[in-house]
Amino acid sequence: MVVAYIAIGSNLGDPAHSVQLAMLAVGGILQTKLVVASSLYESSPVDASGDDYVNAVVKIETNLNAYELLAELQRLESQAGRALPQDRVHVRNAPRTLDLDILLYGDAQMSSPELIVPHPRMWQRAFVLLPLSQIAPELVSAEQLAAVSNQVISRLS
Ligand code: ADP
Ligand code: MG
Repeated sequence: MVVAYIAIGSNLGDPAHSVQLAMLAVGGILQTKLVVASSLYESSPVDASGDDYVNAVVKIETNLNAYELLAELQRLESQAGRALPQDRVHVRNAPRTLDLDILLYGDAQMSSPELIVPHPRMWQRAFVLLPLSQIAPELVSAEQLAAVSNQVISRLS
């Protein structure tokens, strides 16, 4: 089993509900179990338009490899009403019902067109680092948290 951390985000419809459903759905992925989920966090869009985001991070254990896991996450995104990556007009940070990103997959380091792990933008995002540090304080340093402390974010639950 490999420990992985998944970032969950939504800013359309009822985002808090979507994030909670997604936590359950991630735990339901084949050969995968949910270990712990962070609280929900709310923030305003960064470099993007639209409604507030709700974000969370979950820790999972999985027997899927990173590409299999990504495919399952993309299947959940599309079930939530999001077009598959190949059908998307790609606008980074565009509003979405559900965004599921692999932050960390064990201690793997990989970089291909489909998958970059660790997630390349995670260290710049308070909406990732705060929930991650809540459930895995050893993975985020005080300096890394300080670097995003200017970003406004509030804990919902
Ligand atoms: P973002 O999450 O950066 O706002 P998207 O979710 O639209 O943007 O990006 C999806 C693309 O990012 C997918 O085609 C996927 O293959 C690629 N990708 C690269 N690395 C990762 C990762 N660690 N987790 C999830 N998707 C990734
Ligand atoms: Mg994504």
